[in-house]
Amino acid sequence: MNRIMIVEDEPRITAFLEKGLQSSGFVTTVVTSGKTAVSIALDNDFDLIILDLGLPDKDGLTVLRELRGQGMPIPIILLTARDDITDKVLGLEQGADDYITKPFRFEELLARVRARLRNAVASTAYSDLTLSFNNILMDLRTRRVQVGDRVVELSAREFTLAEIFLRHPDQVLSRQQLLDHVWGYDYDPGSNIVDVYVGYLRKKLGGTLIETVRGMGYRLNSSASQ
Ligand code: CA
Repeated sequence: MNRIMIVEDEPRITAFLEKGLQSSGFVTTVVTSGKTAVSIALDNDFDLIILDLGLPDKDGLTVLRELRGQGMPIPIILLTARDDITDKVLGLEQGADDYITKPFRFEELLARVRARLRNAVASTAYSDLTLSFNNILMDLRTRRVQVGDRVVELSAREFTLAEIFLRHPDQVLSRQQLLDHVWGYDYDPGSNIVDVYVGYLRKKLGGTLIETVRGMGYRLNSSASQ
């Protein structure tokens, strides 16, 4: 589950963001002060920060600069009420990943949040080049997959789905998480596409490999018989 830190002092906006993000499956933490935002961000394990530029005690751009100065690698999306293009340009130059101008529709913000989280997953995905699990070997560079000595052909979607599982062995992944990572935010959440593709992977990689966790999702099962 992704954790999002919201740095904003206006209660109307924090309530709006929290309600929307929580109902979309995110865990949120609100910080209303720019002065404490940096230490709270460093002390916690957030996946993304939404940072308002107009804070009462410290300018949002300063907070941004300090976060990046401390090596904070996660995506940061700026909120700005200002029409001043200079702030947006400065923000992007100083390490923000995106910005959104108030007033905004929640869907617009959500799309950006999800896109940034997907990019963050994708950029770590290329940091190491092979993944292995039991007798399965995935080469992320050549996109070659082997089960034991046997080479298995996977489609692009199947490959991405298998990669997510191999990166999170024994962890339950919800259908929504898998949809978000593999198909993107614009997919119908009521669709059974995840179940269909898990079925394809079971056929190709081994039937007991991916376990159904009733009511929760799927898990790559390291105690599966091979
Ligand atoms: Ca504000």
